[in-house]
Amino acid sequence: MFAADFEYRKAGSIAEAVQLLSDNPGAKLLAGGHSLIPLMRFRLARPEVVIDIGGIANLRGINVSGDTINIGALTTHAEIAASADVQRSNGLLAEAAGGIGDPAVRNRGTIGGNLAHADPASDWATVLTALGATVSAQGPSGARTIAVSDLIEDAFATVLAENELITTVSVPVLAANQRAEYAKMAHPASFYAVVGGAVVVTMDGNRCTAASVAVGGLTPRPVKAPSVEQALSGTTLTADSIGDATARLGEDITAAGVDIIGDVYASAEFRAGVAPVEVKHALMHAIGLAHH
Ligand SMILES: Cc1cc2nc3c(=O)[nH]c(=O)nc-3n(C[C@H](O)[C@H](O)[C@H](O)COP(=O)(O)OP(=O)(O)OC[C@H]3O[C@@H](n4cnc5c(N)ncnc54)[C@H](O)[C@@H]3O)c2cc1C
Repeated sequence: MFAADFEYRKAGSIAEAVQLLSDNPGAKLLAGGHSLIPLMRFRLARPEVVIDIGGIANLRGINVSGDTINIGALTTHAEIAASADVQRSNGLLAEAAGGIGDPAVRNRGTIGGNLAHADPASDWATVLTALGATVSAQGPSGARTIAVSDLIEDAFATVLAENELITTVSVPVLAANQRAEYAKMAHPASFYAVVGGAVVVTMDGNRCTAASVAVGGLTPRPVKAPSVEQALSGTTLTADSIGDATARLGEDITAAGVDIIGDVYASAEFRAGVAPVEVKHALMHAIGLAHH
């Protein structure tokens, strides 16, 4: 099917994009187009105005400044996966980017578009939640910083105002004693996460001194797992202690007050059963007891 008629506008700067969004309520930004264009072709989205931000050069690129990696919203998954700076500073980002979709998706899809689309099956939403990343959002009254864990409200819904755009994603550089991993049960055709678990552990030898754990794919938005984190912290990480900690994941999903998704890909019961397994897999990989 072809998309319904729309007006195409090309923004030359961030300020112009914000102005066009403000002037055209209901308009949609076009980044990589990998989610917006299929939605428009199925007529699930019918924006009257589409604002192409693809030519805004300062929305692209990666720079590491002190202990933060700043990634422009238009940076593609392939660029993140291939970046030597990213590989050196936070290998989980490169690994997660390299596991998204297929080469065509990775070459066009952008980190900003992925987060703004807020697909429950997004890898970035889960990984960046565990990493404690933030986004900068630019609107008519200036810029604000939003934690990725607060950005996504629900399936396909963010806290962004209609006339705000994500400009940068900022991610901490991993310290030498931190390990971060992501494990997902991927849909075999799209590679979208049916269930994904991301972990960051701070180690003192074999002992975990702090942990950050998030799961996604099974819930409308990523869920942090404080019970699992507490059970890991202060513990020597072994297959048994990891198994005991990840068994608490269900408590965290219940406490988050979100429903577990059941659909044609997997039932809610199946996803609930697989989630601790993916988190355990990520943790076992982080301490060198498993390999992808
Ligand atoms: C076949 C297929 C397989 C995929 N597999 C995976 C996968 O395994 N894992 C995964 O995580 N993702 C996957 N994706 C999603 C893909 O990675 C893209 O990131 C995603 O489609 C959106 O990014 P985009 O740049 O194409 O955004 P677009 O489609 O251009 O835009 C998506 C939405 O975000 C808005 N938007 C875009 N940029 C901004 C911005 N800077 N600020 C505010 N709003 C903005 C748009 O207006 C639109 O509403 C897959 C997609 C396809 C088609």
